[in-house]
Amino acid sequence: MTSIRIALTIAGSDSGGGAGIQADLKTFQELGVYGMSALTALTAQNTLGVQGVYPMEPETVAAQLDSIGSDLPPDAIKTGMLFSSDIIRMVAAKVKQYGWQQRLVIDPVMVAKGGSQLLLQEAVQALITDLLPLALAITPNLPEAEMLTGMKIHGRQDREQAARLLHQMGAQYIVLKGGHDPEGDEAVDLLYDGREFQYMSSPRIATRHTHGTGCTFSAAVTAGLALGRSMPEAVRTAKAFIQAAIEDSLNIGAGQGPTNHFA
Ligand code: PLP
Repeated sequence: MTSIRIALTIAGSDSGGGAGIQADLKTFQELGVYGMSALTALTAQNTLGVQGVYPMEPETVAAQLDSIGSDLPPDAIKTGMLFSSDIIRMVAAKVKQYGWQQRLVIDPVMVAKGGSQLLLQEAVQALITDLLPLALAITPNLPEAEMLTGMKIHGRQDREQAARLLHQMGAQYIVLKGGHDPEGDEAVDLLYDGREFQYMSSPRIATRHTHGTGCTFSAAVTAGLALGRSMPEAVRTAKAFIQAAIEDSLNIGAGQGPTNHFA
């Protein structure tokens, strides 16, 4: 018998295997954590884009979480694509029912790089009011942080202000990812714990093959937490993992290739 830490992803399926549940489970595996999943939606997807989105019924999401909650308590959990306010409210109810608040990382997935909507507009408010207050951490990119806070984010001061606002909404740690900033040759991420701002930067890699980066990064943070790392440590190791995954992205398909999950 081997004992192992357990991580759960509550997210959408990417049939092409580069993002969503598939990216999360591959990342958990590579980082030495046992992975479980509760599906919120199916997407028909490949490197060319998203061809279809098929959400689950909220009760179907609840049934998966009940099966997990009653037998396999996760050490850490992440949410990815949640799609609708009904699914978000169901996930929030189950997080509370099973006492998972201290273990929850929210990746506020909104729009795929190709433009497909992975979170309905009507669901943004539910994400803020129902799920964010339950989070240990939230990992928005700059456009997601703008959508959640309603502010335009340009310089460093704006980033710190956005992080403060997100912290006030209830997440304990804010990981504001800077990879979408069109300026600079560094990708600068910001970690805020309500007291201190910590900046972490890495060289920007010139590639279009970045499909699944957000999912992979938040899964790596979640794996680190499952392994018992502190949040700054989990974020630093996740940043190193995603850096390597982008540097060595995979040349498959005719479109935007996926990041490389092999550690
Ligand atoms: N498809 C699913 C199911 C996802 O959860 C995500 C995550 O953000 C994406 C697609 C986005 O992929 P991309 O990195 O290409 O924006």
